Amino acid sequence: MLASFGPQGWWPGKTRFEMMVGAVLTQNTAWTNVEKAIGALRKEKLLTPERMHAVEEGELASLIRSAGYFNIKARRLKNLTARLLENSGLDRFLRKDSSGLRGELLSINGIGPETADSIMLYAAGKSEFVVDAYTKRIFTRHGLIEENAGYEEVKALFMDNLAPDAAVFNEYHALIVRTGKDYCRTKTPLCGECPLKGFLPAGR
Ligand code: SF4
Repeated sequence: MLASFGPQGWWPGKTRFEMMVGAVLTQNTAWTNVEKAIGALRKEKLLTPERMHAVEEGELASLIRSAGYFNIKARRLKNLTARLLENSGLDRFLRKDSSGLRGELLSINGIGPETADSIMLYAAGKSEFVVDAYTKRIFTRHGLIEENAGYEEVKALFMDNLAPDAAVFNEYHALIVRTGKDYCRTKTPLCGECPLKGFLPAGR
């Protein structure tokens, strides 16, 4: 994948807080919609935990409308910023050890394992592999996981078989997303042109 696509330069975001916001907003929507929402937040100078926490939730929801599920996502962002401020800010929060940080993130209402691991890997630089729908689809089609495998089970495949290296995990996840978007489509995978075609199980 790296040879085909080159480095992906993830996560797209100017600051660690912007990465965290992007990780919340990107659930169930295309990144282009997230970019519009982040652009609106930037225009209103709301891309700091303090400012976002201070803004009224309805106003926040209307600014992130393009990202879909905007009322739910506004609540999640408010929950996240409240927790950051309770922990004396972003720097102290992200400096927690991996298990403490993951536990803290998962205890925030509305933050699931994919969002938590995205924040850990891309904002905190921790060696946590991120699993998303593309990861599940590609690795299921390649016979490496069961179709109904849960998040932690899929994540363990990577955590147990790769040396813990945040830079590698960063690039690997980004390349999986690129492969999923460009080739491993839901209904009609373009295996003949895909860089992973040589890794397909026999008979596929
Ligand atoms: S070869 Fe590519 S498109 Fe085909 S199943 Fe594998 S990842 Fe998906």
